[in-house]
Amino acid sequence: MTTQLSAPNVVSELGPLMKGRVIDRTDPEYDQARSVFNGMIDRSPLAVARCADAADVVAAVNWARENGVIVAVRGGGHSGPGFGTVDDGLVIDLSPMRGVHVDAQQRTVRVEGGCTAGDVDHATHAFGLAVPFGIVASTGIAGLTLGGGTGYLTRAHGLTIDNLLGADVVLADGRIVTADESTNPDLFWALRGGGGNFGVVVSFLFRAHPVDQVFAGPIFFDIADAGTVMRAYRDFLPDSPEELATFFGLKTVPAGDPFPAEHWGKHAGALITCFTGSAEAGAAALAPLMDALPEPLFDWRGEMPFPAWNQAFDPLFPKGMQWYWRGDFVDELPDEAIEAHLEHAKLIPPGAVSLMHLYPIDGAPQRVGSHDTAWSNRDATWNMVIVGVHPDPGAAAGLEQWVRDYWDAVHPFSHRGGYINFMMTDEAPDRLRTTYGDNFERLAAVKAAYDPDNFFRVNQNIAPK
Ligand SMILES: Cc1cc2nc3c(=O)[nH]c(=O)nc-3n(C[C@H](O)[C@H](O)[C@H](O)COP(=O)(O)OP(=O)(O)OC[C@H]3O[C@@H](n4cnc5c(N)ncnc54)[C@H](O)[C@@H]3O)c2cc1C
Repeated sequence: MTTQLSAPNVVSELGPLMKGRVIDRTDPEYDQARSVFNGMIDRSPLAVARCADAADVVAAVNWARENGVIVAVRGGGHSGPGFGTVDDGLVIDLSPMRGVHVDAQQRTVRVEGGCTAGDVDHATHAFGLAVPFGIVASTGIAGLTLGGGTGYLTRAHGLTIDNLLGADVVLADGRIVTADESTNPDLFWALRGGGGNFGVVVSFLFRAHPVDQVFAGPIFFDIADAGTVMRAYRDFLPDSPEELATFFGLKTVPAGDPFPAEHWGKHAGALITCFTGSAEAGAAALAPLMDALPEPLFDWRGEMPFPAWNQAFDPLFPKGMQWYWRGDFVDELPDEAIEAHLEHAKLIPPGAVSLMHLYPIDGAPQRVGSHDTAWSNRDATWNMVIVGVHPDPGAAAGLEQWVRDYWDAVHPFSHRGGYINFMMTDEAPDRLRTTYGDNFERLAAVKAAYDPDNFFRVNQNIAPK
């Protein structure tokens, strides 16, 4: 389908139609413009269209469609499999579109499609509000939202999509439409979990919640105690207050400041906690669990503004590292599953910041029906991910093998399907169908209605019915 257009055509044809810049292979900024977060991804698009506004997105979509050029849509560029770029195609890059408007009266936030979670946190915090996104501030809100979105505020306020009130979308035919409960409700349904299949979302409207100071921080335990911690955490979670978000991790202690040098590189179990409220109430909420646990290596909980905590991990994950991940939804953690986790966590490749995280998605997400949004896994307890992360490209093969072996060992204990935002491109052929369950056929029908030619296919692709 890709035509053999020479690179200058993109700049001379599309450039004049756009307010933002079109960067082709001759541009000194090209290498920087084509790069995405995952350093494993090395693709060579025809050009990157840096869109300044929705009209630029329309121009880019129309130009690509009329010229038979494949497109990749980029929000924050954090996709593991690198869906924010494509060989010999046009990257529709929304990163210049970073406007955020907070309506404090209505407690709603209008967010442009190129924003990161940090952009939105910054704007909403001034009003004592927050929207539930993920745990790293540099992640794009577009890809995260369209996949579902899990993070610190999930148990209390739902998935990111449960807080989506509407979206403006540029469709494959170049029209801009609104999708919400009353306008194009089928599209609105599909956007809430169906990924980037349906169009380019140029702006999102979110509900925000009163979240200001949090009592939060990491608590690390020696790997010898990790089984005890994991079992106690499993038993503690169901009755714990929803304002308390605590995820469990198996990882190594990062080898650098501010981590204590005597623990650098040690395998460890970790509770990463975030309580919306005062230090006293937060400490009391976690006390029943902490009282049952051995002495941690360190406990760094403290009171801080929510945006400070939501960006605390960003320095550990700079752009350009090698990333490979796999995940699953998890219902229960029997002791055999915990044993399998521990066995593979002890094999985390040295020098890496690789990890396994179990993000709780019980609470508010479970109060939404499994057919109310495209995300159907409303009865799962955790969104689990195993991530191999390493600065050295030479370590990539070892990382992938570690993730695959680990996943193979714990997958038998999983629920139905996995989070599309924690998939690469090498999953089983029926993985999306399994993940969406009953919703899959409806998603394929919505795809056929809004993108019958599968123009938007650089994503976890749902073929038109
Ligand atoms: C360091 C790190 C931490 C993470 N933490 C979390 C977490 O806590 N919670 C969580 O839920 N996920 C998390 N993720 C996963 C994250 O949700 C996905 O990687 C997501 O795809 C990132 O979105 P993006 O816009 O940055 O990515 P991109 O690479 O820009 O895009 C990802 C996908 O979304 C599509 N897309 C992007 N922008 C648009 C748009 N405007 N309109 C239509 N489609 C679009 C793309 O085509 C692509 O298919 C994390 C990822 C990383 C790398």
